Amino acid sequence: MIITILSGKGGTGKTTVSTNLAKVLSENLKVQLLDADVEEPNDHIFFNVDFSQTESVNILLPVVDESRCIQCGECAKVCQFGAIALFSTGVKVFETLCHGCGACSIACPVDAISEKPKEIGKVKIGTVNATMNFGMGILNIGEPSGVRIIRQLKKHIDRKADVILIDSSPGTSCPVVESLREADFAILVTEPTTFGLHDLKLAVDLVKEMNIPAGIVVNKDNEEVTIIDDFAKEADIPIILKIPFDREIATLYSRGELFVEYLPEWKKRFFDAFETIKGLIK
Ligand code: SF4
Ligand code: SF4
Repeated sequence: MIITILSGKGGTGKTTVSTNLAKVLSENLKVQLLDADVEEPNDHIFFNVDFSQTESVNILLPVVDESRCIQCGECAKVCQFGAIALFSTGVKVFETLCHGCGACSIACPVDAISEKPKEIGKVKIGTVNATMNFGMGILNIGEPSGVRIIRQLKKHIDRKADVILIDSSPGTSCPVVESLREADFAILVTEPTTFGLHDLKLAVDLVKEMNIPAGIVVNKDNEEVTIIDDFAKEADIPIILKIPFDREIATLYSRGELFVEYLPEWKKRFFDAFETIKGLIK
């Protein structure tokens, strides 16, 4: 079972949910936690991971052979990212904008474009204990897209694990779509604020578009504010867990501790949420 954890915006508690859920499930099941929040991976802080493997992730950058180029501009026309342009002095490649899609070299009518590899980040794989495997992607600073890193990370999905948890990037852009591909269920983490609701709506639209069953986790819950409950009813998406706005939970998080280890009543609540997920997948 693959469960992707996402949130419309950063800072809503995606890491809290991913790490504590992984810990609770690993007490009864074989779990793999993949941190696909490649711009800012931090799940590993909460575990003592023994990393055994590190892989480079490369893209292929175009290299123009000026002696062959006929300055037709086809490469610039086909590039979706404005990463290659034709000037009076010749063709220029803007490496930091290039996604390495290869379209320009296909479009070139005279085969003037070859490709050279460039590292955009890394994937690290390791083990926490006998029932928990771990993986994370790291995007190099300044690189425009982490999609390749996530794809590479997902090649390490442990098909023998009972549950694979993928902690996605925040937002609803390409890296999140990549993290959701193949998912059996999506956990949408939000908070009861107007901003939280706005971004939750975007996340709901995305999972509906991708036809993935989903449930909401309300983090920093305040019983007096019901905007998420009202929306969940309207959108027909169940709320599977509420985590209160609690000083002790926040303090434990800031110390890099899993709060389920200090507040054991939460183990059952997370496990119950998982049972609800299983029912919703069926
Ligand atoms: S490889 Fe793709 S993104 Fe990079 S310059 Fe060529 S068309 Fe643009
Ligand atoms: S498509 Fe090829 S020939 Fe045309 S401008 Fe680009 S590199 Fe030069």
